[in-house]
Amino acid sequence: MNLSDKARQQAESCRFCWMCRHVCPIGNADGQERNTARARALMVSLVCRGTEKLEDAASNIYECSLCGACTNNCKTGWDPKIFIQETKTEIVLEGKVPEEVAPVIERLGKTGSPFEGDDSHLYNKYNDGKTLLLIGKNAAIKDASSVVEALELLNKSCVDARLDERADDTGYAYYFLCGKTKETVEKAKESAAAIAKYEKVIVYNPVELSFILHQWREWGIELPLKVIAFHDALIELIENGKIAIEKSERRYALQDNYAYARELDDEKTARKIIDLCGKREEMLLIGKEANLGGNLIMAEYMPKTMALVAKNRWVNAENMGCKTLVCENPDEHVLLSENAPIGCRAITIEEMILENLK
Ligand code: SF4
Ligand code: SF4
Repeated sequence: MNLSDKARQQAESCRFCWMCRHVCPIGNADGQERNTARARALMVSLVCRGTEKLEDAASNIYECSLCGACTNNCKTGWDPKIFIQETKTEIVLEGKVPEEVAPVIERLGKTGSPFEGDDSHLYNKYNDGKTLLLIGKNAAIKDASSVVEALELLNKSCVDARLDERADDTGYAYYFLCGKTKETVEKAKESAAAIAKYEKVIVYNPVELSFILHQWREWGIELPLKVIAFHDALIELIENGKIAIEKSERRYALQDNYAYARELDDEKTARKIIDLCGKREEMLLIGKEANLGGNLIMAEYMPKTMALVAKNRWVNAENMGCKTLVCENPDEHVLLSENAPIGCRAITIEEMILENLK
């Protein structure tokens, strides 16, 4: 297998100490030993040595959500995401994509999205404004009503926000499904070119924001202007009086998204917004230790496991008496909503603001 020295070293340097065994949300959901960073490292290492076949490792590689909980907990300080993504590229180039994943990659190639569904109504309606709200394909197709709420909240607050389909295809779906391929980098470059014509760019999904800030930079794709996180735009509007909130008695707990908490080092902004809206509670496993609430691309090829991932997160919430989870990532919002216990709800951060407007 043709992995870079860095990726191979990351796979080989696992000490199998098993200190990260408890953190993989996929392993915790399906109870499979193979769904740990340690087992994935061992498998990739065996493929590199020629004792296992790449096709036998493929399904296990696609069971990783790239949430980085193992990276955060690894006592050796290595990052499994590096060899996992390079192995995915090898799997695609060698034509060894698992049968459950193949239709999703095929759809992505044909339609530009890993999901079935039409998002043209959104792009046709919100096509004018100086500020780009970059939502990404997951939100556009799977959580369109939240996107509409977000846009209307921004526009009521004089932001003049719009959507742009070309900018929205940041290359993230290609990256998640195929690693760094020619198509991934082309999509990223096209998105960067589309972004360049705006005065301001607000990024809705923290996973896309982290991808743009870290992966694009690593590939030498310059960001034409400063992009800001959606919750940073919201707090700015609240602080300068464009959004007027009245603090209520409602109780909210944050579903920390891994990209904000671990990759962008921001656990505070959403909590600050919650404190302005109501009473903040905390669930189990928060901040950098946060557990994944769901991944929509994976739900296309392993829906049962993704439902279990969301249900496990609800167990973390209910054990602390939390009934309303505030989400900042469309994947987690959709999957936590679909799997919410009776009497509990998952809402977006903009939905929380809207229910506490003055
Ligand atoms: S990145 Fe997340 S899903 Fe992947 S092995 Fe690590 S903990 Fe598990
Ligand atoms: S903590 Fe790090 S070194 Fe230890 S088993 Fe997990 S991935 Fe390997």
